[in-house]
Amino acid sequence: MSDALSRLKDAVGPKGFSEDPHTIAPLLEEWRGTYHGRTSLLVMPATTQEVSRVLAICNETGLGVVPQGGNTGLVGGQIPFDGEVLLSTRRMTRIRALDKEGAHVIAEAGSVLYNVQKAAEDADLLFPLSLASEGSCTIGGNLSTNAGGANVLRYGMARALVLGLEVVLADGRVLDLLRTLHKDNTGYDLKQLFIGAEGTLGVITAAALKLFPRPRQVTTALIPLADPDAAIALLAHLQDATGGLLTAFELIPRIGIDLVLKHIGGADPLRAPAPWYALVEGPPFEDALGDADAVIAQTEAQRVNLWRLRESLSEAQKLEGPSLKHDISVPLAAIPEFIREATAAVLAAVPQARPVTFGHVGDGNLHFNFQVPDTSRRDAVARIVHDTVYRFHGSMSAEHGIGVMKRDDLVRYKSETELAVMRMLKQALDPGNILNPGKVLP
Ligand SMILES: Cc1cc2nc3c(=O)[nH]c(=O)nc-3n(C[C@H](O)[C@H](O)[C@H](O)COP(=O)(O)OP(=O)(O)OC[C@H]3O[C@@H](n4cnc5c(N)ncnc54)[C@H](O)[C@@H]3O)c2cc1C
Repeated sequence: MSDALSRLKDAVGPKGFSEDPHTIAPLLEEWRGTYHGRTSLLVMPATTQEVSRVLAICNETGLGVVPQGGNTGLVGGQIPFDGEVLLSTRRMTRIRALDKEGAHVIAEAGSVLYNVQKAAEDADLLFPLSLASEGSCTIGGNLSTNAGGANVLRYGMARALVLGLEVVLADGRVLDLLRTLHKDNTGYDLKQLFIGAEGTLGVITAAALKLFPRPRQVTTALIPLADPDAAIALLAHLQDATGGLLTAFELIPRIGIDLVLKHIGGADPLRAPAPWYALVEGPPFEDALGDADAVIAQTEAQRVNLWRLRESLSEAQKLEGPSLKHDISVPLAAIPEFIREATAAVLAAVPQARPVTFGHVGDGNLHFNFQVPDTSRRDAVARIVHDTVYRFHGSMSAEHGIGVMKRDDLVRYKSETELAVMRMLKQALDPGNILNPGKVLP
């Protein structure tokens, strides 16, 4: 063991590791405070070759290794629970290339999402992936969780934004798939295997990402609604009016606005409260709103303020106290009925729970959350919610992944055959089970 650790330290050099408990401690806690890990060694390779050497040593000596980017993951995937080596990509932050005409950027895995968005903006282009955690989360983490966020409606999930990938396999071999082609039908699309795999099949070291023209005219509006049925009708109406070009359609409940105003501050942008709101962004759609009592951002500052209401929801919930959270998706048309049915079922089990349902409703994705006095009924409530989700033909993880949080539920909701294929892939790519052991697969 000590021989393996000293080989790892040699592989990354003096700047590339830490054994200092104070340096390591913040990386062992996840954002919600739900999970706490332990490790004696943090490695911070600076190059793909160093990642390769680290994995080769771990594979040879049977040491588990947990990749970590910005540590904003919400399902515990980035936390070493069993003393595994923690591999942080924090030193791999180079933008290797940006091709304006070809509209792509090649970024290393540890690049913070905001910095990639900024590099695109500096070239008058857009990298559309956008999450409330964008100031901390990294491209490697975004791809490993197949992140979603606010602009999926128009641009798709993270996997839709990838042209090529560089991955280090469990045995240290570098799989160079870093192509920038839009068309390449030469057999299996291997890069897609590693996207959404949460670090269990390989370590992503760099990615070629698609860039897009920047939208020249953007309308952002907060629109009051009577209920979620009205949200689904409005979405269809505005997609029709814009030729399907809306970039975002977010549902926010009144309690969400109240929590943000209470804990984060600011003023209510609308004169009268409404039970629900849609935060909508896209090419100009004012004419299609008719006489709805909407707030339309007139300046960039107003636009930022409207988005603050949505993006501060998680933080406001955290400040309000304990909560139970579920990141689910159901077919779009089923959203109102799902909200009614699942809310009633949870309230029957925990009458003091306060529903705070919000989310990327344009993608059928709800953060189906509840403020609760304490989290003692977490598992029971998750079971109620997820069972309801599957009756509606939905998914218990729309965008956050499986990690450890939902690992055991895979057996309940996936077929034997689907699980068997997942295990075959894991066995083929990581026979020693060194890559993020205990995550995703039960
Ligand atoms: C306030 C807040 C808002 C959020 N909003 C959204 C949202 O709207 N949509 C959404 O999808 N998510 C959201 N998230 C969740 C989180 O930000 C995303 O999952 C993000 O993609 C994780 O990136 P990260 O760099 O922090 O990854 P980490 O948390 O460090 O890791 C996440 C997973 O990826 C693996 N991993 C990390 N880097 C690599 C790599 N280089 N190679 C292989 N595996 C790797 C880890 O092992 C782990 O399993 C939010 C989180 C917070 C705190």
